[in-house]
Amino acid sequence: MAGTLYLVPTPIGNLGDISQRCRDTLAAADFIAAEDTRVSLKLLNHLSIKKPLVSYYEHNQVESGQKILNRLLAGETCALVSDAGSPAISDPGEGLVAMCAEAGVPVCAIPGPCAVITALSVSGLPTGRFTFEGFLSTNRKSREAHLKSLAQEQRTMVFYEAPHKLPATLEDLAQVFGRERRISLCRELTKLHEEIFRTTLGEAIARCAQVPPRGEYVLVVEGAAPPPPESVTLEEALAMVEEAIEKGKSRKDAARAVAEETGFSKNVLYSQSMK
Ligand code: SAM
Repeated sequence: MAGTLYLVPTPIGNLGDISQRCRDTLAAADFIAAEDTRVSLKLLNHLSIKKPLVSYYEHNQVESGQKILNRLLAGETCALVSDAGSPAISDPGEGLVAMCAEAGVPVCAIPGPCAVITALSVSGLPTGRFTFEGFLSTNRKSREAHLKSLAQEQRTMVFYEAPHKLPATLEDLAQVFGRERRISLCRELTKLHEEIFRTTLGEAIARCAQVPPRGEYVLVVEGAAPPPPESVTLEEALAMVEEAIEKGKSRKDAARAVAEETGFSKNVLYSQSMK
C-alpha cells in the first residue's frame, strides 16, 4: 500500500506557530522533503527531530519529485516542507501533489501558517471574496498582461512582493487601479516588528520614497467598485417584480429584491405593482 504525502506548513516568522500536529507529522514521517535542507534542518533541530532529508525545490522538481513518488509508492511516508509557510503556495509542492494525485498516492494537507491568509484576515479590507495573485512577473510583458487582467477585478487582491521591488510594484499597481485605491501593506507578519499599514496606493508610494522598504511584505489591494446599475425605467422594474413573483417570490420579497437591484424604492415598487 502507498504511503501518504503530508504537506506540513512551517512558521512564517514566529516559531511558536508550529502546531502539535505538524511536529507529530514531522516526527512520524519516514523522510522529509525540503525546499532548502539547511533552512529546514534549523527548524528540525529546534524541534529536536532527526530525520533523513531530501531536497525538493523549483529546479529539481521533476527528477526529485519522481524519486519521492517512487518511495511513496513503495509505502514510505513523506512530509513536505518549504522554507516558510505552506508548501505549494508560491513555493514548491504543486508539482508533487499533482504527481501523487495522478498515481493515486494519498495527500494530506495540514493547515497552518500561510502569509496570504494571515495578511488578508488582518488587512481590514473585504475578505468575503478574494483572489491570490502571487508574485508579479519581472518580465515586463507578462507583468503588464497580468495587471491588465485585474483592471476590473472587484474582489480583494493579494500579492506577494520582495521589499526591493516594492516601490516599482506600487507604481505599477497605481497605474492600473489609481492612486486612491486602498491597500494594506502587511509587513513582517507574526514577527517582532509586524506592521500593518492601511492606506492608499498614492500614500504607500509616498511613504516608500521616504522610508525604503525592509522585511517581508504582503500587499492586499481593495477590489474595484461595482459598476453603477444600468438605469432601468419604472415600467421595466415593475416587470421584474412580476417575473420574480411568477418564479415563486412573495410580492414583498420581489419588491425588495428589485429595489436593491434597480435603486427604486421598495414601497413604490410594491404599491405600483398592485395596480
Ligand atoms: N508558501 C509561503 C506561504 O504560505 O506564505 C509563501 C512563500 S513566498 C516564496 C514568500 C513571500 O511570502 C514573501 O516574499 C512575502 O511576500 C510573503 N511572506 C512570507 N512570510 C511573510 C511574513 N512574515 N510577513 C509578510 N510577508 C511574508
